[in-house]
Amino acid sequence: MLLHVSKRMMESKDVLTQADKAIGDGDHGVGMARGFEAVAQKLAGDASASVGDLLAAVGAALMASVGGASGAVFGTLFRGGAKNLKGAAVLDSHALSLLLLDGLAAVQQRGKAKVGDKTMVDALTPAVSRAKEMEGAPIHESLPAVAGAARAGMEATKPLVASVGKAKTLGERAVGHPDPGAVSVSLILQFMAEFVANKGDAA
Ligand code: ADP
Ligand code: MG
Repeated sequence: MLLHVSKRMMESKDVLTQADKAIGDGDHGVGMARGFEAVAQKLAGDASASVGDLLAAVGAALMASVGGASGAVFGTLFRGGAKNLKGAAVLDSHALSLLLLDGLAAVQQRGKAKVGDKTMVDALTPAVSRAKEMEGAPIHESLPAVAGAARAGMEATKPLVASVGKAKTLGERAVGHPDPGAVSVSLILQFMAEFVANKGDAA
């Protein structure tokens, strides 16, 4: 799943570049593409690790390679999200919920952004709530629901003026554009759901 997400995030470089050009400095696409290329390299041949070990490896690779605010933010999301999954052998809906809950807590502890500041926290927070609600469901039902919640949270950043990060200096000019980091959160969850859906078709 993480290799699929890496490939699709690399393919999303231009979309994320355009999103960051509209309200930031335009480096988010290049940063995330470089980061997930590093993730794919790191995970190749790492199939025996636990869910938590894999997520921690993703976080470390992103932190070391992305640069900018989002290197720390997305590195922290995955490293923080790995915290309670060191012994998990499968990513079920309960593990997904822990990943997002612990990941959000770590991101907010580090970056101090709140809902409504026009950051990736705005996409992650509704994803955490939906994941909690879907904890008993099979992962192929929980992931699309969680990805949908993240997408709605990303869409809801469009009318906002940013109060954190580079977009803060743009003021009203950021209005009408989504936050690029929120687009990334929405895409990562969409690509996770996509992988599970395709796997179901193949089975
Ligand atoms: P930079 O802002 O250094 O150019 P990027 O463009 O790669 O870095 O990433 C910008 C994204 O990082 C923003 O869209 C936002 O979602 C996220 N971000 C920035 N600061 C914070 C923060 N304090 N908390 C959460 N997310 C943040
Ligand atoms: Mg940027």
